[in-house]
Amino acid sequence: MSFEPPGYCPNCGEYVEKGASSCEECGSCPETGWNDEGYLDGVELPGDETEKPDARESSAGKFILIVCLLALLVYVFVLR
Ligand SMILES: [Zn+2]
Repeated sequence: MSFEPPGYCPNCGEYVEKGASSCEECGSCPETGWNDEGYLDGVELPGDETEKPDARESSAGKFILIVCLLALLVYVFVLR
């Protein structure tokens, strides 16, 4: 990390004014490498990538459930 004010904080994205010794928002400073909790890459947001597969899985699960219910209904209907 080679961030120097002025600029946007690599940790929280808040604007850090020129000459500021640390970020007013999250308190990160050059000593902490502009990281709050020692992340290797504080800019990356892994949460964005994990949300989409989950949504797909849940929708696929619902689809399978609906297909199973339809198959069960057809099965019962045919037996009668
Ligand atoms: Zn910050």
